[in-house]
Amino acid sequence: AQTSLAVLGHPIAHSLSPQMHNGALAALAKEAPQLADWRYYAIDVPPADLPRALRLLRKRGFLGLNLTIPHKVLALAHVAEIDPAARVIGAVNTLRRLGGANDDQPAHAGGDQCDSLGDGWQGFNTDGYGLAAAVRETLGLDLSGQPVILLGAGGAARGAAVECLAQGCPSLWIANRTAANLETLLSELAPLADKSRRGEKNRLHGFSPARVPDDLPAHALVINATSAGLRESDPMPIDLPALPRPAGVYDMIYNPPETPLLHRARKLGLPRANGLSMLVHQGAKALEIWSGIAASRIAPLMQKSLTP
Ligand code: NDP
Repeated sequence: AQTSLAVLGHPIAHSLSPQMHNGALAALAKEAPQLADWRYYAIDVPPADLPRALRLLRKRGFLGLNLTIPHKVLALAHVAEIDPAARVIGAVNTLRRLGGANDDQPAHAGGDQCDSLGDGWQGFNTDGYGLAAAVRETLGLDLSGQPVILLGAGGAARGAAVECLAQGCPSLWIANRTAANLETLLSELAPLADKSRRGEKNRLHGFSPARVPDDLPAHALVINATSAGLRESDPMPIDLPALPRPAGVYDMIYNPPETPLLHRARKLGLPRANGLSMLVHQGAKALEIWSGIAASRIAPLMQKSLTP
């Protein structure tokens, strides 16, 4: 019988995930024949339909799901169990079916409620892992030893910030266009920052990208977690030359492959990379969660399946 996986999003047509996962699965199946019948699909699910889609796909026997815009936060309310890191981030991008039943029957009387009875979905967030692995691979930098200037305060920035703090990054500076969103994120992160490095003060800072502070650290890793750069007409999320010379620039955006920020980084001769490597590593970690095969073995196969 086929084992099914899928990414749910809206829109979803341009997702690279099916190509990446199916390519890796085909390569893995040569050595792990139990994966020969695994298939990964892309399913367009508007936000209002997410709860129904999660119930239906579970009943249809889907083993695992990825979630992308706009479902990562919405899905939290519909998972039966949540990984502690994903809870802190407040978003899930990977679900694994709980319970073995590949059932067409409701598991309980009132089967629509089964998600809250322990046999629905278990939620994870692999974006932070993906970012850390990508930064290490493409820039040779380690979040644990690296001052970080993080641009953005949305879902992706939240995952990045939690990962930086969890890894013990010595100082984290977050810049965001809308001050209120920045303040919300900083107040949510404050307990984590206090907890992870006792005794050290001022690890966590916020600033407006329109007013770059004088005391930003040199040799920081600049991470773009804003959506500024998705379109050619977008402004740069920060005036890169106004920063002390960074150790590198990582842009989570991979389409276009060179955003205005990365273009400027190239002109300045800075080490830089786009978000394709993060896409690969977060995907490899998801497939590890579903298959038990190490993400480090999966990632090169996913990378290869995306290379023309
Ligand atoms: P959200 O909508 O949650 O957050 C968007 C962020 O971008 C906010 O901080 C917002 O600031 C900021 N922003 C939007 N437009 C502009 C602009 N014109 N100028 C400055 N700031 C702007 O999105 P996500 O956090 O989910 O995603 C952010 C980016 O990360 C996307 O491009 C996404 O594709 C990418 N991503 C890549 C991944 C990968 O694997 N490579 C994984 C996850 C995300 P404000 O608060 O002011 O509105």
